[in-house]
Amino acid sequence: MKEIPYKIYLDEKELPKQWYNLRADMKNKPAPLLNPATMKPMTEKELDGVFCEELVKQELDDKTAYFDIPEQIIDFYKMYRPSPLVRAYCLEKKLDTPAEIYYKFEGNNTSGSHKLNSAIAQAYYAKKQGLKGVTTETGAGQWGTALSMATAYFGLDCRVYMVKVSYEQKPFRREVMRTYGASVTPSPSTLTKVGRKILEQHPGTTGSLGCAISEAVEDATTHEGYRYVLGSVLNQVLLHQSIIGLETKTALDKYGIKPDIIIGCAGGGSNLGGLIAPFMREKLRGEADYRIIAVEPASCPSFTRGKFAYDFCDTGMVCPLAKMYTLGSNFIPSANHAGGLRYHGMSSTLSQLYHDGLMEAVSVEQTSVFEAAEYFARTEGILPAPESSHAIRVAIDQALRCKETGDKKVIVFGLTGTGYFDMAAYEKFHNGQMQDYIPTDADLQKGFDGIPPQPEE
Ligand SMILES: *Cc1c(COP(=O)(O)O)cnc(C)c1O
Repeated sequence: MKEIPYKIYLDEKELPKQWYNLRADMKNKPAPLLNPATMKPMTEKELDGVFCEELVKQELDDKTAYFDIPEQIIDFYKMYRPSPLVRAYCLEKKLDTPAEIYYKFEGNNTSGSHKLNSAIAQAYYAKKQGLKGVTTETGAGQWGTALSMATAYFGLDCRVYMVKVSYEQKPFRREVMRTYGASVTPSPSTLTKVGRKILEQHPGTTGSLGCAISEAVEDATTHEGYRYVLGSVLNQVLLHQSIIGLETKTALDKYGIKPDIIIGCAGGGSNLGGLIAPFMREKLRGEADYRIIAVEPASCPSFTRGKFAYDFCDTGMVCPLAKMYTLGSNFIPSANHAGGLRYHGMSSTLSQLYHDGLMEAVSVEQTSVFEAAEYFARTEGILPAPESSHAIRVAIDQALRCKETGDKKVIVFGLTGTGYFDMAAYEKFHNGQMQDYIPTDADLQKGFDGIPPQPEE
């Protein structure tokens, strides 16, 4: 048996040439997006008005297993990929666990997260279609940053609606986006009809992702040569993010390592969907078995307390309906929750897999997440994003369980990014001002009440 290095790096030549589309191997396909007006599946033509053509094809295709990655995207990937798979020797030692712990580190680029993997793909297809620019929303700011890097690379205009609470808490994020040429507007804003309406109904609101999405979609559909792009939730984003899992699998295979438990944080589900893609493929085909755990915040518990239903993807209800685990499109998570896992819904692909019992989900509380973040920073050196730290929390918990039972489990988790722009949240934690917020059933019911009537089976 070869000795396993601290970092398993892949060669540039080993960079995947194709993305893998998990849906191709699913027996129960994720339910199609519905047009809320007709309750019929959205057609390619209807979606083309909002999204880039090639991306719509990827969105609707649940049969093609592999998509070639265009040469220009591969060239861009080469600037920061393949990303390392790290054996967390120091963490294992500190925890005194018999478990082996590995993490796939996606924070090694200026955007500081995995989101660049899809941003560059989406910008490429927008450019290829001859568009002038794209619009989007950003919550914690990582997606907006990633997209502005990608649009700068291809010379496209980029208009970002940033959830107001983040816009105010993270002025430096905003400046990074502007450095790459994006224009950034706090949402809700008075620039759009839907923004003005939300402001009227909820004066003083700190905004939400669902609301910023509505604004960005309206902006794109009312301006010639613009399309809307989204950094998570959609099938196309999971497709692009499969590069994370494909690299992870190649690295593990090199050393004959077979994971027992794969863990990822879940906001809209893109990093987790990407990380698990090739492993879930084997699981779906009955070739191997893995325990797969999605980790979400207790303050925004879509999987663990949400409903599996058709719901709006945005607060303004301008987007198609998606069948997913949801807290209701007007659910607005507590403003004291730090980080980007605040979306009310979840990828419909992951929702279906979860519904079919192919993966598990747990929710964790904010202070225990920051305890894990700090522990990890002091042990492994990397200062993790709060989102990523949800996965760290559960990886540590699983490793500690192994210590009790003596099991030598192999644990792999996704370290999606770095937390340099989240120091205000770390500051709260250090000052003992961070609170755990868990919505009551009554709080959640308000969100569920906004879920529209379901289509007939
Ligand atoms: C956006 C983000 C997430 C959550 O998004 P998913 O689509 O669920 O992956 C997790 N970690 C980081 C660092 C992020 O920026």
